[in-house]
Amino acid sequence: MATKKTDIAARFGARYGLKIRRLIVSIEKQSRAKHVCPNCFKKALKRQAAGIWVCKRCGYKMAGGAYSPFTDAQKIIQKMVK
Ligand SMILES: [Zn+2]
Repeated sequence: MATKKTDIAARFGARYGLKIRRLIVSIEKQSRAKHVCPNCFKKALKRQAAGIWVCKRCGYKMAGGAYSPFTDAQKIIQKMVK
C-alpha cells in the first residue's frame, strides 16, 4: 500500500500533506505508548486525556504534556520553581 510510510495517519488518506501526516505519527505514538510512572517506576503510565496521565498499576494520576507526560517546557518550569 502507498500508505505504509504514514502508518497510523493512513486514516487521513492523501489529505493534509505527507510531512504533517508523518508528524502526527510520531506524536500519536508517543501519546498512545506506555511511559514510566514517577510513583512506582513501572512502565504503566497512560494518557487519559490531553495533559492527564494515569498509572494503570498504582493508580497515580498526574498532569503532564498534552501528548507526552514529560515535556521540555516542564523542565524549565521546575527550574523556575526551585
Ligand atoms: Zn505507578
